[in-house]
Amino acid sequence: EAITIQELANRMAERAVDVIKLLMKQGQMMKINDVIDADTAELIAAELGHTVKRVSESDVEEGLFSEADAEDTLLPRPPVVTIMGHVDHGKTSLLDAIRNAKVVSGEAGGITQHIGAYQVEKDGNKITFIDTPGHAAFTQMRARGARATDIVVLVVAADDGVMPQTREAISHARAAGVPIIVAINKIDKPSADPNRVRTELLNDEIVVESMGGDTIEVEVSAKTGQNLDRLLEMIVLQAEVLELKANPNRTAEGLVIEAQLDKGRGPVATVLVQKGTLRVGDILVAGAEWGRVRAMLDENGQQVKEADPSKPVEVLGFQGTPEAGDMVAVVENEARAREIVDYRQRQKREKASVVRAGSRGSLEQMMNRLQETGKKEFPLVIKADVQGSAEAIAHAVEKLGTDEVAARILHSGVGGITESDITLAAASNAPIIGFNVRANKQAREAADREGIEIRYYNIIYDLVDDVKAAMSGLLSPER
Ligand code: GDP
Repeated sequence: EAITIQELANRMAERAVDVIKLLMKQGQMMKINDVIDADTAELIAAELGHTVKRVSESDVEEGLFSEADAEDTLLPRPPVVTIMGHVDHGKTSLLDAIRNAKVVSGEAGGITQHIGAYQVEKDGNKITFIDTPGHAAFTQMRARGARATDIVVLVVAADDGVMPQTREAISHARAAGVPIIVAINKIDKPSADPNRVRTELLNDEIVVESMGGDTIEVEVSAKTGQNLDRLLEMIVLQAEVLELKANPNRTAEGLVIEAQLDKGRGPVATVLVQKGTLRVGDILVAGAEWGRVRAMLDENGQQVKEADPSKPVEVLGFQGTPEAGDMVAVVENEARAREIVDYRQRQKREKASVVRAGSRGSLEQMMNRLQETGKKEFPLVIKADVQGSAEAIAHAVEKLGTDEVAARILHSGVGGITESDITLAAASNAPIIGFNVRANKQAREAADREGIEIRYYNIIYDLVDDVKAAMSGLLSPER
């Protein structure tokens, strides 16, 4: 590790010129922005009377996120559910309907607040819903290494059927390995045709129970409230199958679901507790921010003193505003919190100053990684101009699989490449293949930001050839 003279001086609260003078005495002529190595820095610090503590990533992060809890400490925890589906199929309506009917202690007269997630109760079983529908948030979190969702409820409008974003949502859930429950919505409409939905889902290899498969489906109406209870029952059932557990008797860890700077209240973050119990007074670190929990509020705006696993709470008391997707951990004291946050903020600055070359989601990178890890999967996102091409490409690429390596198609869809495709690809470090389609501006920017390669083709043969070459370690130069 190396450090600039300025940075070293800052950290010791000394003047940079004094550092430079000391270096001069040792025969080194340096300027304020020059970089010195850790050993030299340590010598200088010692000369100036500072005790040196070298902080490496492992030092700082060590023990922050604990090892898995012992089996006998684990207790059942509520499932965390995200609702996904095509626009206008009723995601928001469904979230609202469930919430209005069922919010825990809603009868206590609290005013419901949007805090990014809420909990409901069904026959004594709690369920946590992430209150931001759609897959953008879901996949962005996943891209950051956070797993916020146990179950995806896929909403499909019975009068509209499977649409492009339905298929995207399926791909996102699959890529994350999260089970799907299908909610066939708008069943109250005269034009509703739930069987059409069931049949169309077969194209995406979702076989619902009534057709002999193992994906749970429920016909619902967010408008009339029909079958909402049954949907909740099915979620509880699915959760039981998953045997979701966490240790509530330990310091808390979790995830930031939402965060913003509130004019009156300062930084406010909704934290989904994943392990342990979060309490007022705890000192916590979230990404590159820290704070002492001054107060916690639930979705009814009511103060709570503690929050156990799967409970979302709005936390007041952060020094700065963390970001959605940041991991949260309670630490033993303020000094520790500051140490971690200092380190992370420094890293953030350093990262920002390094231009992100060498993209991670490129065919070439993928090939290198395959060689390094011997990993057997080759993830890809495919977008094509027509369904027939998308299918033909997916089929051809799948056929390339060998004993050592197989393509894993995260999503193959019709239409231009969008930001949503990039987030999906980024979560698995997958390159994107565009066949007779282009990426829009937002997608191109996101791809640059995330380091995801987009390759364009208009001849299937070329495409298959490149993928084959990448898979066998003989990639031709980018065309
Ligand atoms: P989202 O884009 O998926 O969040 O969809 P919305 O929840 O905004 O719903 C889109 C439209 O469908 C709105 O006009 C809703 O009132 C309507 N809608 C949602 N659910 C139902 C339902 O079960 N029955 C009927 N008839 N309309 C619904």
